[in-house]
Amino acid sequence: CLTGRVLSIVGSHQCRVQSEDGRVHVCAVRQVLRTLMKESRNTVVAGDIVLFEPLGDAQGMIHRVEPRRGTLGRGNDRNQQLIVVNVDLAVIVVTGVSPHFKPSLIDRFLISCEKGNVSPVICINKSDLFNYRELLPIVGQYANLGYPVVLTSAHTGYGIDQLREIIAGRQTVFSGQSGVGKTSLLNMIQPGLALKTSQVSIDSGKGRHTTRTATLQALEFGGWVVDTPGIRQLRLWDVGREEVEGHFIEFLPLVRYCKYPNCMHIHEQQCGIRDAVAAGLISARRYDSYLKILNDDES
Ligand code: GDP
Repeated sequence: CLTGRVLSIVGSHQCRVQSEDGRVHVCAVRQVLRTLMKESRNTVVAGDIVLFEPLGDAQGMIHRVEPRRGTLGRGNDRNQQLIVVNVDLAVIVVTGVSPHFKPSLIDRFLISCEKGNVSPVICINKSDLFNYRELLPIVGQYANLGYPVVLTSAHTGYGIDQLREIIAGRQTVFSGQSGVGKTSLLNMIQPGLALKTSQVSIDSGKGRHTTRTATLQALEFGGWVVDTPGIRQLRLWDVGREEVEGHFIEFLPLVRYCKYPNCMHIHEQQCGIRDAVAAGLISARRYDSYLKILNDDES
């Protein structure tokens, strides 16, 4: 058997697998494996590391799927639809100009990253069009929380080398609103890299609906990039209301000062989080974002 990485899913139970020597095999999944894994649509997912038996020239049979880490998908803990797995890094692309810079969208996506165990990087693109200093107060907040921030321009090439260094050797997802420049950035990183996704039909259990699957593209300098329409909109894992605080990393050391163990930090008395906001230890903007996420308010 050979070890490989699933580049994309083709049809219902076949996938393109790249072996370590760079060759691509179209593989089927052993029936017993499909039966073993309860959620059949998650049997094999883009990004999976698999053991497969090569058959013929460019074909094969998958015998084992290695344990996953770094997952991005939709749904809740009981009903998950994995979009891509073994993601090391998520580059969250935003811009200081159109479409308008929305920190609340970054906060939402950071929650998905925290939940899926994916390291985020915030990429502020179109730097040729705005004065970066205007964004410094907000950028500083993320930097202070330990989230790396890079400034790029897909037009002038500014910051592209830094981005290449960050993603080299890793499996990276590019996400962000439409129009922020993901396609342009990818093509600057490596010509022809952007968007080769296909439309497929997926059975959701509530009827069939069309979705688009993730596709991994190999990088010339090592690593893979995933660009999938499904994760571009930054709406991912369903996170229960009581889970949200656990993914705001700056809240974690302070919740122990809340009087009530089930404190939601909204209007409870003696709340460690609200006290920290009042004292300037937690940014009022991040706290506001927390409240909006609890209320499912996307403004
Ligand atoms: P996507 O929807 O996120 O893939 O965004 P695109 O890559 O299609 O870019 C949307 C528009 O923004 C296009 O007209 C690009 O030419 C433009 N654009 C992308 N990156 C930059 C940049 O860094 N600077 C400037 N000035 N324009 C950019």
